[in-house]
Amino acid sequence: MSNNSKQFIEKEAFQIRQAYDFTNPEIDLFKLGQEIGIDIQTQSQQSHGISGALIRSGNDFMIYYSSSVNNIPYQRFSIAHEFGHYFLPEHPENILKNGAHFSSAGAKRNAKDPYEKEADYFSTCLLMPKSIFENEMYKFNDGMEAIKALANLFNTSLTATAIRYIELSDSPAMLIISSNGLVDAVFSTRELRKFGDCRYTKNSTFPQKNIISTELSKKEIYLSDWFNTNYNIKALEESITLGSYEKTLTVITTSTIYDEIEEETNDEIWEPPSFK
Ligand SMILES: [Zn+2]
Repeated sequence: MSNNSKQFIEKEAFQIRQAYDFTNPEIDLFKLGQEIGIDIQTQSQQSHGISGALIRSGNDFMIYYSSSVNNIPYQRFSIAHEFGHYFLPEHPENILKNGAHFSSAGAKRNAKDPYEKEADYFSTCLLMPKSIFENEMYKFNDGMEAIKALANLFNTSLTATAIRYIELSDSPAMLIISSNGLVDAVFSTRELRKFGDCRYTKNSTFPQKNIISTELSKKEIYLSDWFNTNYNIKALEESITLGSYEKTLTVITTSTIYDEIEEETNDEIWEPPSFK
């Protein structure tokens, strides 16, 4: 049974970055393959539900990735996922019993399989290492501007970048991923959760506040539209629908910092002591 912690996976992926001197935001995965002697190949046949595979014959390893989805960031995530199965402790001996491991794509994927989850997180960390990501993320305005710019820099998908952004950001921000009118996932930063709880969870009906558009839509809202909070806080709602998957990303940000409004409220009720 595999039990690598997130911190361990983060460290492992970063050590590989350092060992082969990949200091730019965008890592060249084919070069990493060359460095360690793993051949990376593809076939562009029609989708068969496989995103990639790690194949072993004797001491030789090969990574296969599907290019039936014509999307480079998606392919890069699949390749980096297979590197995870190669590098992470417990993976090769357990998943390569028959000489090959196939990673399923999309809905066919078993989201609870710990090997798949760990390889996905390894992929995230190898493509977007914490320290390099944090170095870049505050150079941009919070929200979709930062996410788009980071996705460009790291050559990663908008979805994977948005999730990583919410994981690492110190700003009040939230991401809602939805498809077919239902919420698939909600992610929020600790700074935003100080205000309250999100009103929507997985499988909630997605509030159709926006005209679904593949162009970025932006509007000013109140945080209480999305959050159970007693404060009247202005926020920005940005949405974009990704055509190929009919998936909508909605990002909520606010420039209001919870601790600042808490202080103000306390100032109001504070009265100077009187000495009579
Ligand atoms: Zn896998």
